[in-house]
Amino acid sequence: MFKASVFTLMPDMFPGPLGLSLSGDGLARGLWELDVHNIRDHGLGRHRAVDDTPTGGGPGMVIRADVLAASLDAGLAPGDPRPRLLMSPRGRPFTQSYARQLAAGPGIALVCGRFEGVDERAIAARGLEEVSIGDYVLSGGELAAMIVLDACVRLIPGIMGKLESGSEESFEDGLLEYPQYTRPREWEGEAIPETLLSGDHARIARWRREEALRLTRLRRPDLLKEREPR
Ligand code: SAH
Repeated sequence: MFKASVFTLMPDMFPGPLGLSLSGDGLARGLWELDVHNIRDHGLGRHRAVDDTPTGGGPGMVIRADVLAASLDAGLAPGDPRPRLLMSPRGRPFTQSYARQLAAGPGIALVCGRFEGVDERAIAARGLEEVSIGDYVLSGGELAAMIVLDACVRLIPGIMGKLESGSEESFEDGLLEYPQYTRPREWEGEAIPETLLSGDHARIARWRREEALRLTRLRRPDLLKEREPR
């Protein structure tokens, strides 16, 4: 079973949106598991301090290596095979193929940074892989961890119905998805493209492929360059 362990200073943020809809149903049905660890439980002194000022100067605070490592060591069994991801704007970009790879494995441990980030030594010593959800800066890793989990969990077998296997979605074949329509056939004077009403499955497939290519060329030409030929 896919097991997620989250290390955070904001444990109350979980499961949050992951407790609703597809991922929430999956959680309730035992298709995946989530445990949340408060890094502050391993904080130091009466105030359970977790951070300190950046060595060398500069603004903000840095999460201490000893505190984070103690939290990870207490929350993860030795030899736990799951990848350990540190949410970080400096990290490897999170993508659909990365989500697929993670969803096929035993689960993930996710570390959520706060303040200016975490002491570099903890990253190396505990084998954390830095992962970014995009080129912008959030105030904490919690929302990023939820995004990574949401993308993985919906791919776990049994979470989505057969009809929504996800195989035709954006990015799955290196293209953006084709336009979708549903009833009514005409709305505010706009009709559904005739091809989609033709019942000719080969023609529909061709139309969708062409539209996917057109939209990708228009909006994300970078994807076409990266695409593996199929
Ligand atoms: N000073 C850091 C940013 C810290 S933001 C820097 O410049 O790299 C605080 C925390 O939010 C980070 O430790 C990280 O856990 C999380 N975070 C912010 N932006 C993120 C992003 N794009 N992807 C993943 N995590 C992010």
